[in-house]
Amino acid sequence: MASGEAVGAMLLTEPDAGSSPSQLSTVAEATDDGYRLSGEKAFGTNAGVADVHLVVARRRPQPEDSHGVSVFLVPSVDEAPGFDFERIEYMGMRGHVTGDSTLDDVSVPADALLGEVGQGFRIAMGTIDMARTGLGAIGTGLARGAFDLAVDYASAREQGGSAIGEYQAVQVIVADMYSQLESARHLVYSSANRIAEDASETRASSAAKLAGSEAAEFVTRNAIQVYGGKGYRTDEPLERYFRDAKILSLIGGTSEIQRTTVARETLDL
Ligand SMILES: Cc1cc2nc3c(=O)[nH]c(=O)nc-3n(C[C@H](O)[C@H](O)[C@H](O)COP(=O)(O)OP(=O)(O)OC[C@H]3O[C@@H](n4cnc5c(N)ncnc54)[C@H](O)[C@@H]3O)c2cc1C
Repeated sequence: MASGEAVGAMLLTEPDAGSSPSQLSTVAEATDDGYRLSGEKAFGTNAGVADVHLVVARRRPQPEDSHGVSVFLVPSVDEAPGFDFERIEYMGMRGHVTGDSTLDDVSVPADALLGEVGQGFRIAMGTIDMARTGLGAIGTGLARGAFDLAVDYASAREQGGSAIGEYQAVQVIVADMYSQLESARHLVYSSANRIAEDASETRASSAAKLAGSEAAEFVTRNAIQVYGGKGYRTDEPLERYFRDAKILSLIGGTSEIQRTTVARETLDL
């Protein structure tokens, strides 16, 4: 996967288990020579086109010393009878294939278990600080792209004999966009530096993801405002940035979950 030869997907979310993954109901039934997986998974990015899917499921029977869930490696849809995928179209981020999967008695060998039984959440959450910082970086990049376009436009577009950037109402928008963008950028770099120094911090990564998501939504929306009606055209890039930005406050834990995480890591309760 790291060399780009294989595509991976992570199937954690289910129709009834989103922000609360502890409600997972996908089951991996132990058999003589491996496991049989059954359940429904929602929103898997790359699912269906991936060479390997990390499926989070409950092992049955549940060993006495384990109450958690486990991760199983399931090959491509073509190689795994009983594994089906339906692509769903979304508001934005249309460059990636995402959709719903069904596992109907999908057989995998015993060595398809990743790590130990019961380590599922630890494995799924193990990369969360890096993943959330990365999502914050995507938001910062989207916000920067929209900001740069808006700044250029505000200087070039003239109305009433002046560049629109001369008007104080537009200046307020530019100042607020800049402040949100730079706040997000600093939180993302700060969290990324911690990760690079092997000192990652959950609060810092959640704050970076939250700020990047909010900056992306705020800046893309306001960049369209600066562009006026032209910003709403589908042959201009900003409407796509605006649609793409919306996903960031939903995936990898919603903005509400990031706020809860930041508060939980801050308060001494
Ligand atoms: C395009 C796309 C790609 C995705 N890719 C993947 C993927 O590759 N793998 C994967 O496993 N999942 C993936 N997801 C799923 C994504 O992680 C979930 O949509 C997300 O975790 C939210 O879950 P939910 O949609 O069930 O919303 P819900 O959990 O039902 O939340 C609905 C609302 O209630 C709020 N809420 C819920 N619980 C709480 C709480 N405890 N405190 C405060 N507010 C709360 C939420 O913040 C939200 O506003 C993807 C989703 C999309 C749209």
